[in-house]
Amino acid sequence: MTADRANLIGLSRAELTARLATLGEPAFRARQVWHWLYCRGARDFSEMTTLSKALREKLAMSAAIVRPEIVTEQRSADETRKWLLRFADGKEAETVYIPEADRGALCISSQVGCTLTCAFCHTGTQPFVRNLGPAEIVGQVMIARDAYGEWPTPQDQRWISNIVLMGMGEPLFNYDNIATAVTILMDAEGIGISRRRITLSTAGVVPLIRRVGEELAVKLAVSLHAATDDLRDVLVPLNRKYPIAELMQACRDYPAADNARRITFEYVMLKGVNDTVADAKALARLVAGIPCKFNLIPFNPWPGAPFECSSNEAMVRFATILNDAGYTAPLRTPRGRDIMAACGQLKSASERERLSRWKARLAAGIVDDHHPAATVSA
Ligand code: SAH
Repeated sequence: MTADRANLIGLSRAELTARLATLGEPAFRARQVWHWLYCRGARDFSEMTTLSKALREKLAMSAAIVRPEIVTEQRSADETRKWLLRFADGKEAETVYIPEADRGALCISSQVGCTLTCAFCHTGTQPFVRNLGPAEIVGQVMIARDAYGEWPTPQDQRWISNIVLMGMGEPLFNYDNIATAVTILMDAEGIGISRRRITLSTAGVVPLIRRVGEELAVKLAVSLHAATDDLRDVLVPLNRKYPIAELMQACRDYPAADNARRITFEYVMLKGVNDTVADAKALARLVAGIPCKFNLIPFNPWPGAPFECSSNEAMVRFATILNDAGYTAPLRTPRGRDIMAACGQLKSASERERLSRWKARLAAGIVDDHHPAATVSA
């Protein structure tokens, strides 16, 4: 059934054009289909009324429009909204919508699990499963648009105004799929989210940073978290491969940054680890000359985490030093904590629930092969 009907979501424009060419259709048909998929949000070929009935039927026979399946949807007291999505192979990932007064950012995942093992991140304690494909990355945005009724693509006021690639996974370890997906999201005849409203967050995969700037020109966020290699080696093990000096050089050379498009340095506030006056001063010195701002993130604790969040006093002191050095450094208010939608926690609650359900079944003598690890092991 759907398995052998290829999903049209996630194909680049060139791929979609080639697919329609195999059905004997000219390029302008691909453009019409693109419009239905990404501007109108069509879920079925029968909606595509600018195509002949014969073509709609031909498409329905040979292709499909597949979004991820929604497993659960949770809404936080602060209106943060989280979807647990399941893909065709049963693997799952989460997407979070963080509303502001008249707009909002959608935080999307790039991988199921993560290979990075950052010391403070709960995702790092879960096994890496696989990269998400372009359809699965774009599909996260389409699900959120469905939920907010944002079809056809609104011209001005939008709930989903910004996209942040800050969910589960390291986007630069999945560059090709991210690039295809981001190109689809930016297309003006479709979902139409401008590159200025898309932020890619990386732990610092230095060799790919320039390409992001040249090929996608989206905004860059870098998870810095420490001002010295000794500390960053421990907090973000990727630093052993790409140390701070190389990372800072890549930021200085980032082609898509200037004063209007500053690089964001993310910095998780860890009590007694990276939150002293000396740390703040070292940080300000480190980034000198880079058009940048900071995003100070209060550490989101998780069960068994070897860290605590810095005190309010320490965080305010830290922010003040960066402000005095001339940098914007807002202290983020954690959002969606009640639904485990905060940084580094995506999917951990659902994994835990599944684990406890499974343990209960085991205790009751019900043994089946739905081991929770089945959804997280490669
Ligand atoms: N791999 C990418 C994107 C995913 S992580 C990256 O490293 O940037 C998104 C952000 O959440 C990163 O800045 C990460 O360091 C931060 N983060 C992870 N776990 C956290 C936690 N428990 N508390 C606060 N921030 C966390």
